[in-house]
Amino acid sequence: MPAETPVAELVERARAGQARAVARLISLVEDESPRLREVAAALTPHTGNAVVLGLTGPPGVGKSTSTSVLVGAFRARGLRVGVLAIDPSSPFSGGALLGDRIRMHDHTTDPDVFIRSMATRGHLGGLAVATPQALRVLDAAGYDVVLIETVGVGQSEVDIVSLADTTVVLLAPGMGDGIQAAKAGILEVADVFVVNKADRDGASETVRDLKHMISLGRRELGPSWRQPIVRTVASAGEGVADVLAALDAHRAWLESHGELTVRRETRAAREIEAIAVASLRARFAGPGGSAVASLAKRVAAGELDPYAAADLLTG
Ligand code: GDP
Repeated sequence: MPAETPVAELVERARAGQARAVARLISLVEDESPRLREVAAALTPHTGNAVVLGLTGPPGVGKSTSTSVLVGAFRARGLRVGVLAIDPSSPFSGGALLGDRIRMHDHTTDPDVFIRSMATRGHLGGLAVATPQALRVLDAAGYDVVLIETVGVGQSEVDIVSLADTTVVLLAPGMGDGIQAAKAGILEVADVFVVNKADRDGASETVRDLKHMISLGRRELGPSWRQPIVRTVASAGEGVADVLAALDAHRAWLESHGELTVRRETRAAREIEAIAVASLRARFAGPGGSAVASLAKRVAAGELDPYAAADLLTG
């Protein structure tokens, strides 16, 4: 597909189910193409339909395996699924990362499954800007479910919680989960806990620790949604029905409490902020960068205070 394919045509093709057009649109947002604004404008009327799920947890707990199993389960319901696999720590671009994800190969020939890995590319806005825009592409392209898989909780550049309608936190026995989880603040971010590798020793202890932590945290969270803890053996496809049931229950709760709107507005707010911050940075780094340099000279020389300098820059 030539680079100059008009954006409107790309969007049309993406909506007609052409994976190449979807991939091209995501590349445009990832590469911060000059056509980014045009892309966002063309996508927006078609967005707001996808169910957005976040899946996160420490490395090795079984996120990729679980994602693959969940994709299969959604497909069995006749839903089209998009997956964004985010690795905030990886400097490598998508392709290489995806190549390693053999478990995803189950779905690579399915035209109703679109899988894309995204990694930091060192751009000004980075994943904070690119991820929500990639989500918009998949939403507009008609994927019923978009699953955003991220490594780690609490340290990641992309706060998937602000993107997802429902966030699933995956843990596994024997990783010092209790303490790590508490540190990472997962009590606040998880809507559903999954203890994977339930075939391993220690799964009951992990569940018990989690229950304890949830009971301590409940007062602050409020009583209206009780984070369920689901046990799975993702590598054997066990427990997936329970995960789906928990996701459905959370969805129903979101809708009946007006929370879905709240979460989507929060998502939009973060998106706007990320774009605004990125464009400010771009202004400083671009031809206007010399303005920072000359202000810096004055601040360093004690002629100007840094707040006044920042006001001069942003005002
Ligand atoms: P990720 O790093 O969180 O994406 O984890 P992966 O999905 O790559 O899984 C890490 C390893 O755990 C792989 O070798 C999987 O085959 C294995 N694994 C995944 N789920 C289970 C499970 O339920 N039980 C056991 N015993 N191993 C699992």
